[in-house]
Amino acid sequence: MDYQHFFRSELDALREAGDYREFAELERHCGDFPNANCHNGPGEVTIWCSNDYLGMGQHPAVLDAMHSALDRAGAGAGGTRNISGTTHDHVLLEAELADLHGKEAALLFTSGYVSNWAALGTLASRIPGCVVLSDALNHASMIEGIRHSRAQKLIWKHNDLEDLEAKLAALPLEQPKLIAFESVYSMDGDIAPIAAICDLADRYNAMTYLDEVHAVGLYGPRGGGIAEREGVMDRLTVIEGTLGKAFGVVGGYIAASAELCDFVRSFASGFIFTTALPPAVAAGAAASIRYLKGSSAERAIQKERVAEVRARLDAIGLPHIDNPSHIIPVMVGDPVKCKYISDMLLNEHGIYIQPINYPTVPKGTERLRITPSPVHTEADIDRLLTALEALWTQCQLARRPIAAE
Ligand SMILES: *Cc1c(COP(=O)(O)O)cnc(C)c1O
Repeated sequence: MDYQHFFRSELDALREAGDYREFAELERHCGDFPNANCHNGPGEVTIWCSNDYLGMGQHPAVLDAMHSALDRAGAGAGGTRNISGTTHDHVLLEAELADLHGKEAALLFTSGYVSNWAALGTLASRIPGCVVLSDALNHASMIEGIRHSRAQKLIWKHNDLEDLEAKLAALPLEQPKLIAFESVYSMDGDIAPIAAICDLADRYNAMTYLDEVHAVGLYGPRGGGIAEREGVMDRLTVIEGTLGKAFGVVGGYIAASAELCDFVRSFASGFIFTTALPPAVAAGAAASIRYLKGSSAERAIQKERVAEVRARLDAIGLPHIDNPSHIIPVMVGDPVKCKYISDMLLNEHGIYIQPINYPTVPKGTERLRITPSPVHTEADIDRLLTALEALWTQCQLARRPIAAE
């Protein structure tokens, strides 16, 4: 076989389908984020699609904790958690996370992806006869974990309680069941009916596994997520989150009972056989969580920015999904135009918004996913809206009727 030829032809097929991914090479300006240098583009840009939702990646509390841990403990953890890699900083971070979610324990992983893959894979494969009921729009990391477990999987219609109940009711009451879902869904920005799902879990004797990756740090009085905001954290069997989005660092975790965390710690290959996160990362994440437990200022300003961008889009009739979260999907509905607008925003206006095309979202729903943050200024918003308005006209895209005042 001509291996290189094979790789090339597969990549050519991706390009022809318009699905080939190009990366912007960014250098974020610490202290001046969302501004960055785009090395393979126009130079200075403003980022409007970051998952560092609150700018915690440059927060002094986080940076100080990381600098001091680096000076105190050095660069890497030096091993897996089992072999010399469990540092004091890891233990403190797990305590911080357990407290955040009101659980007995928490368990760290090297990323949110790994936490979903390893925890779901371990629970579903090790609990005899376990069936996983998975929301149709669950993240790839959950899907991969469930697939890896080889457990029976039932996919229920997205956020559809009736469909979930029908599937639960069709199973024997005594059969072990795990309902896997998210709180804030990242592409549409809609939110699951968590309490009602917990009601069904109680009625049909199921465990619940909630991915709060796009909610931790952002919702609830202490940044514990949607489940904290709605007062239902204690009803969930497992809450999973990331340290890489609103917390601004990197890593993933589950929070649950002491027994469940110990079980996953003891049986999950994806936890056991990999080097622990650097202590400085753990210290930075703990500082970020601690800070956001005590400060709602960032969350409040973010809400204002999100509301303002939505209102400005409405004022010029640009279609976006009205959802109750901080994610603003501006709908283009055409893959070529979506990519074109993104390119023009970058190269002509110094605005970086990655186009979201198939297969990340269904064909015909191509979009720009905008994530306003407390570190975006009024001037940033003005520049964004002026650029979008001009490009919408140039591309002859449909507008919504503008509501009369
Ligand atoms: C990003 C994401 C993850 C993975 O988290 P990482 O820490 O980035 O690996 C898991 N679930 C959802 C819903 C995500 O969007």
